[in-house]
Amino acid sequence: MAYAGAEARYQVSNTLAQLRATLGAAKFRDSLAVRALYSQDVYRCGTTPLAVVSPTTVDEVVTAVRAATAANVAIFVRGGGMSYTDAYLPDRERAIVLDLSRLNRVLSISVEDLHATVEAGCTWADLDTALAPHGLRAVFWGPMSGKLATVGGGMSQGAATFGSGRHGTSAAAALSFQLVLASGEILETSASAHDGQAAFFRNYGPDLTALFTGDAGALGVKTAVTLQLEPRPGHGDGLTFSFADFAALRQAVSRVAREGLATEVFGLEGALARFVAGDQSAEEAVKAWLAAGRAQAGALQAVKQMSRMAWHGKRFLAGSPYLANFLTEARDGAALRTALDAIRQSVGDDGLEIANTMAAVTRATPFPAPMLLGPEGLRLLPLHGIFAPSQVEAFHNAFRAWCDTHRSHCDRLGIKVYTVFASCGASAFLYEPVIYWPDVWPALHRETMPAQMLAAWREPAANPDARALVETMRLEIIELMKQSGAAHLQIGRAYPYLQDRDPIFLALLSAVKRAVDPHGLINPGALGLRPD
Ligand SMILES: Cc1cc2nc3c(=O)[nH]c(=O)nc-3n(C[C@H](O)[C@H](O)[C@H](O)COP(=O)(O)OP(=O)(O)OC[C@H]3O[C@@H](n4cnc5c(N)ncnc54)[C@H](O)[C@@H]3O)c2cc1C
Repeated sequence: MAYAGAEARYQVSNTLAQLRATLGAAKFRDSLAVRALYSQDVYRCGTTPLAVVSPTTVDEVVTAVRAATAANVAIFVRGGGMSYTDAYLPDRERAIVLDLSRLNRVLSISVEDLHATVEAGCTWADLDTALAPHGLRAVFWGPMSGKLATVGGGMSQGAATFGSGRHGTSAAAALSFQLVLASGEILETSASAHDGQAAFFRNYGPDLTALFTGDAGALGVKTAVTLQLEPRPGHGDGLTFSFADFAALRQAVSRVAREGLATEVFGLEGALARFVAGDQSAEEAVKAWLAAGRAQAGALQAVKQMSRMAWHGKRFLAGSPYLANFLTEARDGAALRTALDAIRQSVGDDGLEIANTMAAVTRATPFPAPMLLGPEGLRLLPLHGIFAPSQVEAFHNAFRAWCDTHRSHCDRLGIKVYTVFASCGASAFLYEPVIYWPDVWPALHRETMPAQMLAAWREPAANPDARALVETMRLEIIELMKQSGAAHLQIGRAYPYLQDRDPIFLALLSAVKRAVDPHGLINPGALGLRPD
């Protein structure tokens, strides 16, 4: 072990033995395979921790946190493990991974007061399934990884997608959190919850709930989340448009967002759509997977749409530099038609309407098995920046110029870079470059991807040269985004949050961290926070 001192080693092994005895072998795991699996994210591996602790009650979270912090063992908090910003990766051996995915019950749903409380490890898909029979959903209702990604993870790192067209990020749905602090004390963030009554209103004085949204788990362990709900619209549909250039796409997306016409807006380069559509082996694998009955309800619709894509799709994709999908909803068919027409009018002559395959597939299967590998089984790394609409075209031009500087090396090593886009509320544009490269498949990817898809591809050989260039490109893209004034979700340990801040900003945040985690043992390094 890297940490020194017989006494310290004794204290740690004693703590681990006590935790194992209290929690049992199913909730305290220390085999090398499990420790290695839980210390990697979608991008890379961290240091292998001492154990993986998977509590199923709040009391067990308290026990684990108290024991670990008393023995000076760092705690790296993991939800669904679907992130790629080193956000829960241990940076030392003297650590446990606290896996929240089994603390996952839906605790209450209030149809009258429009809120639901879930344990933090509940997935977005499970929350949505529980709310659907009540004709409700959360105002932000999940990222596309929501089959495995948790509500606690989404609230802690900030997520966008379902509901983002109108409401912005996951934070919009947060009414209150229950957290376990480093001391083992429990904090309820809502000021509107009294005597066991659930939180129903967030802005009763200073908003402590907001403080813990997007905190990358650095300020405490979320154990429960109360979310704002809304009625689930009965009718929905989507439109897809092709755009001749990025400026036309950006302007159309911004107009639709400004007018609040779409519930979700997401776009991509036509070249990426062609790359995905051309991956015949994956298409066959998905069909086999669906045919084997392992698909979710609604997937039949998706298959029909996929067949349409096979007939019509590749022809229109051939001539589409950029594509954008606009989803919308309404209470009845007539209102839906009006809403779709309003989007058509808002896009105007900037875009050409084409078959709405992608929009329809997304509506039919919002939470598919998360694709941790890209077409042809390539590894993938998404990065993103959030820009003011007026700033994003300048960034786009700088980014394209930057891509050109790497093109010959990328071609030589089989690295591809494509970009996807989304609107995030009325005034923020999300620009997401995704890097693909051939490399071996990590254990997390093997564990998560549908077996039929893995079987359809040939695993690439280890490719350290491509991996090294991807890492260089990752850092350069983040720097380019910083120079262009980007903000970020999913800060983890990847995006610069504290750099260049005013001293008073830093002092306040450090004081908060010291108050909730005096020894810097909860997710150390997340957000860039380190003990003084
Ligand atoms: C195929 C795919 C699709 C994706 N689609 C989207 C998308 O549409 N939109 C989007 O925004 N992102 C997307 N992501 C990224 C990511 O999955 C999401 O941001 C998701 O919210 C991560 O949730 P998680 O539960 O997996 O969190 P984890 O990856 O486990 O953790 C993320 C962060 O939250 C902290 N954390 C987790 N649980 C807790 C807790 N209970 N208390 C305190 N801290 C906690 C961790 O310490 C870490 O800092 C996608 C990823 C993949 C692989």
